[in-house]
Amino acid sequence: MFSKILIANRGEIALRILRACREMGIKTVAVHSTADADAMHVRLADEAVCIGPPSARDSYLNVAAILSAATITGAEAIHPGYGFLSENASFAETVEEHGLAFIGPTGEHIRMMGDKITAKTTMRALGVPLVPGSDGGLASLAEAREVAERVGYPVLIKAAAGGGGRGMKVAHTADEIEEAWSVARTEARAAFGNDEVYLEKYLDRPRHIELQILADAHGSVVHLGERDCSLQRRHQKLLEEAGSPALTAEERDAIGRTTTEALSKMGYRNAGTLEFLYQDGQFCFIEMNTRLQVEHPVTEMVCGVDLVREQIRIAAGEKLGYTQSDIKISGHAIECRINAENPETFVPSPGTVTVFHAPGGLGVRMDSAIYAGYRIPPYYDSMIAKLIVHAPTRAEAIARMQRALDECVVEGVQTVIPLHRKILADAQFQKGDYTIHWLEKFVAAQTAKN
Ligand code: ADP
Repeated sequence: MFSKILIANRGEIALRILRACREMGIKTVAVHSTADADAMHVRLADEAVCIGPPSARDSYLNVAAILSAATITGAEAIHPGYGFLSENASFAETVEEHGLAFIGPTGEHIRMMGDKITAKTTMRALGVPLVPGSDGGLASLAEAREVAERVGYPVLIKAAAGGGGRGMKVAHTADEIEEAWSVARTEARAAFGNDEVYLEKYLDRPRHIELQILADAHGSVVHLGERDCSLQRRHQKLLEEAGSPALTAEERDAIGRTTTEALSKMGYRNAGTLEFLYQDGQFCFIEMNTRLQVEHPVTEMVCGVDLVREQIRIAAGEKLGYTQSDIKISGHAIECRINAENPETFVPSPGTVTVFHAPGGLGVRMDSAIYAGYRIPPYYDSMIAKLIVHAPTRAEAIARMQRALDECVVEGVQTVIPLHRKILADAQFQKGDYTIHWLEKFVAAQTAKN
């Protein structure tokens, strides 16, 4: 096992990784920008190294500075968290070339899944069902029209290098395809420096359901059930559940088998998530994330598995030591992402947190790196905390989340807590009756009321 790990991230996820390391008796090295000198992950780590100015490009994405920090401190492995360098294949390879372990999959697998067209082709060959659409990238507008006619409108034009919902445009009819084609390509070029696009049938009422996978370097692969992440605004997840209110145990087992078999054939290693759109009982693969996800805690709560600990053990070459039948899913978990944003306009609200009180009690977990007096820097993501609850049933989990949100106090900045309260009190949400389009409509209806 490693004796020292460098955490190449910030905020709640840096703290999350640090906590797993502590429990495993592993020393930690935090890295930080000058804007994060007072951050909690810096305070709690065994050692800390400043790697650059506030801009992420010069600090959290600064490969040379991060590798120097690892060398100077004698770290043996690097955990990238999520975001930043976590899905950067050449970073993973550079880390390994320097004789350090990258806590994640191989650079080859990151690269393969980072390109959505290659990801889809690979998954199709492995027997994973896809959204109907183009076989690969689209060479011309004429080809886009042809495929759209074949699969039927509405269709979605998506960036091959996509991420964060950028470079994605819907064409409802043939009249809209030219514009969708050119806007998606322009956006993709601006955001990713790559204007390759592909086409998918636009599903009108799917749920976003994803499967959590763990694979060791010795050929064992298990899944830890699904998460329902349908509640999204502008393709950004806001509230997640494990399990999905829409799935039966048989459906979970079947899609679980398909995904674990696929990853086993691929020779995948470490944690990964396969994302699907689910509609009318059908799963359609959309992408794979080759890293730990923001919403991983809901899976941890229902499975009783520490995913970061497993990632570290796998990277150190240990065997999983359990099989699919040992994974027991119990109860229901919900996560609310608490962003420092105006709850109606979603404009970021950086500033100083003057008062902070984290909720507690049975089945309540708060993953956050904020504290009273903490100054939220304006340079990074606006998510300041994740509130997670676990209870025997979904109804009890909803009641517990409502109670926990009532206890939670964050003053000095605005947060989306009021919106979470409204969602949890909504009858349709309580019935579990929602799709990926539900939240946008809910937010619009709230705005209209005010
Ligand atoms: P990104 O990597 O940019 O997040 P994804 O392919 O994961 O892109 O899609 C993000 C979100 O966009 C999905 O969670 C879903 O809400 C929506 N989406 C993607 N593909 C489709 C589709 N074919 N039909 C309807 N909605 C889609």
